[in-house]
Amino acid sequence: MPNVRHVCPVCGRIAATRLTFPDYAVLACPGCRHEFTPELPPRVAETYDPAYFQKAHANWFANPDTALFADLAESIGRCGGKDARIIDVGCGNGAFLKFLAKRGFANLTGLDIIPQALPAPIRYLETPIEDYAGGETFDAVISLANIEHLPEPRAAMAALARLLAPGGLLAVYTVANESLLYRAAKILADCGLSFAAARLYEPHHVSHFSVPSLARAAAACGLAPRGVTRRDIPKKAVDLPAGILRPAVSLAVSAIAAVAAGTGTQMLQLALFTNTVRRDKNYDARNTV
Ligand SMILES: [Zn+2]
Repeated sequence: MPNVRHVCPVCGRIAATRLTFPDYAVLACPGCRHEFTPELPPRVAETYDPAYFQKAHANWFANPDTALFADLAESIGRCGGKDARIIDVGCGNGAFLKFLAKRGFANLTGLDIIPQALPAPIRYLETPIEDYAGGETFDAVISLANIEHLPEPRAAMAALARLLAPGGLLAVYTVANESLLYRAAKILADCGLSFAAARLYEPHHVSHFSVPSLARAAAACGLAPRGVTRRDIPKKAVDLPAGILRPAVSLAVSAIAAVAAGTGTQMLQLALFTNTVRRDKNYDARNTV
């Protein structure tokens, strides 16, 4: 019986160990170039409590990427106008939905696993996406910096696809593991300096997508691509490590971001998809002489 832990969860090819940390390893697929952390020992697997928002990622949550929000609002507006039914899956503290509410969007739903209340008109669903069984569909399904936390990319993408109304817009914003920052971190780790890789491949992040692996996971769910853009997070949203390395890391992050912006190798990808209407299985038989 094959060691299923070493099978790429996107394309099924046998993956090889790419990075090793004291408590876990990151594997890389030679086919779709997806990278993933197969299993975490319980003591490493982190929980999502208020400290996750307030401490470990304070800058990230305190400095939402409003340029990203504005671009998404424009895409949603073009598709469904201000009445579009919108769900933000993994909405965290609801920053994007609050942004949309201020822009006049009224049909807003957030979904996440933490107990919280979000202000009207936002409706909040407290459930893991995999367990959501409401049967509702939405004109826009948004997943921002969330899918990398989920260990089964195809199941996660299928859960997002199920929420999408016919002709709707799915936006997935996640890491790009072949970006300049990721490549630099892996080269440093190969040289014995693993602090940057340890940050990018922290235990919260278990699915590190390449552009092809995200597209492939989407295609497996009957989703059609509508475009991919590369982005970096605003510098002030970067959570830098404490200690003596902080100034050097800050400088390096700025330098890498500048080069990445000039070469189209930014750290994140914003991929847009729509659902395709599946032909029924007798279509070809009926329409072929
Ligand atoms: Zn693969």
